[in-house]
Amino acid sequence: MLNSEKWQPYRHAQPAEAAKELVIPNAMPDDERVWVPVDDNVCFRPLCLSASSGYWVNLLRVRKAGVLSRHRHPQAVHGFVLKGEWRYLEHDWVAREGGYVYEAPGETHTLVVDPHVEEMITLFQVNGAMIYVDPDGNNVGYDDVFTRIAKCRAHYEENGLGGGYIDQFIR
Ligand code: FE
Repeated sequence: MLNSEKWQPYRHAQPAEAAKELVIPNAMPDDERVWVPVDDNVCFRPLCLSASSGYWVNLLRVRKAGVLSRHRHPQAVHGFVLKGEWRYLEHDWVAREGGYVYEAPGETHTLVVDPHVEEMITLFQVNGAMIYVDPDGNNVGYDDVFTRIAKCRAHYEENGLGGGYIDQFIR
């Protein structure tokens, strides 16, 4: 069975222009310094920062209560809840461990983790940008893959991992 053709590897080189694959064995890091704080009790762990395609994949972690600032998405977001639960102030559902969430382009929302949740961890793929807004939708700031890279670099520079630590996650 193992020598049947379907078990044979592809025999040729990968495209010369293709980026190198990215394999992160400890996506849930042992080293606390890998988590980059963004707000009270809120931090993220970068996994793939696609500078070439303009998206990023990260783990978002909130311990006890926390709020991820109100923001608008011009492009789709995919999320998979690994631990705990969270909700949006704008919707009546709760995203719980094991659940998948799709956020449509055009959506504006505020992610909150309630005080009874010890720890929430969700894998998010965020495309394009997060545009931070006030409750009336006026722009107050943004994040894209480049601001994320800059925030990681600054944090790692400061905590001893070194600014170059982020480079392994950039494609
Ligand atoms: Fe969002």
